[in-house]
Amino acid sequence: MNRKERIAMLPGSFDPPTNGHIDIIERSSHLFEKLYVVVADNVQKQCLFTADERMDMLKDILKEHENIEVVSYRGLVVDFAREHGVGVMVRGVRALVDFGYEFELAMTNKQLNPDLEVLFMPTSPKYFQLRSSAIKEMAAYGADISPMVPPLVVQMMRNRIKLLTL
Ligand code: ADP
Repeated sequence: MNRKERIAMLPGSFDPPTNGHIDIIERSSHLFEKLYVVVADNVQKQCLFTADERMDMLKDILKEHENIEVVSYRGLVVDFAREHGVGVMVRGVRALVDFGYEFELAMTNKQLNPDLEVLFMPTSPKYFQLRSSAIKEMAAYGADISPMVPPLVVQMMRNRIKLLTL
């Protein structure tokens, strides 16, 4: 393997990070020398948490992992890959519906950066139903989300929802 193939990235919105994200991040980190978790600082997407908040949550949750670096990035992930010598992009897939979207995205990214390889990693069965959007909705209606997200995220969600309902 050349150097670039040993450096991977896992980009996403992580709004908020779920146990499904953490599982896929940890599993991918075992396959590469270094894994960047790239928090999309996307101006078009309305998020519950700012890019810095999402990045700080992930940094805290993943602090024990020496080969994981959490960053936030505004721009195309293919450009992040070029700038940081990343050879592989990992994306998690939960269900067949994810696959259609991810496949199209992979085709577009391949056109933008032919050197970047894309790998799909299936979710662990216990996390296949976890979606950030559903978690936000459940939390807004007062459901217990603690089995689905790390404890820090439970706290952050509680505080944010309290603020929104004041
Ligand atoms: P995006 O807005 O880019 O889809 P997400 O934050 O929703 O970002 O997801 C980031 C990455 O994590 C994606 O590759 C997504 O498929 C993956 N992912 C999200 N939830 C899960 C889960 N429960 N199991 C496995 N992978 C997941």
